[in-house]
Amino acid sequence: MDNYEKLLQNAFKELPEKASEKSRFKMPKFESFIQGNQTIIQNFGDVAAALRREEKHLMKFLSKELASPASIDGKRLILKGKHREKMLNERLEKYVKSYVLCKECGKPDTNLVTQNGVTFMRCEACGARSPVAVIK
Ligand SMILES: [Zn+2]
Repeated sequence: MDNYEKLLQNAFKELPEKASEKSRFKMPKFESFIQGNQTIIQNFGDVAAALRREEKHLMKFLSKELASPASIDGKRLILKGKHREKMLNERLEKYVKSYVLCKECGKPDTNLVTQNGVTFMRCEACGARSPVAVIK
């Protein structure tokens, strides 16, 4: 067996392991309810902490995605308008894909670092750095 074949075999051996590591990441879920003309996310602070992201960053993202003003109230987030929990969690998933999971290895052990006005996601697991979109 030549080296190339060996390499291929090793690559295939590693695949299932990597996939299972990825699935170990547990996507947090918002718990919300509608009150009058507002939507309250009860566990907003916990979700931000689980993702190790600033509450304000996550709030800005949701506010923009849903085109609704939002404010933080202790551990809760209050959004204007009525938003179904399922929709909120779809936006959360989008946030996690864009701002939490490493683009290279898929792990959640990342930090957001801003340098010269550009924000990067830096991965503690593999060292990859990739630029992320700024939320205006
Ligand atoms: Zn990585």
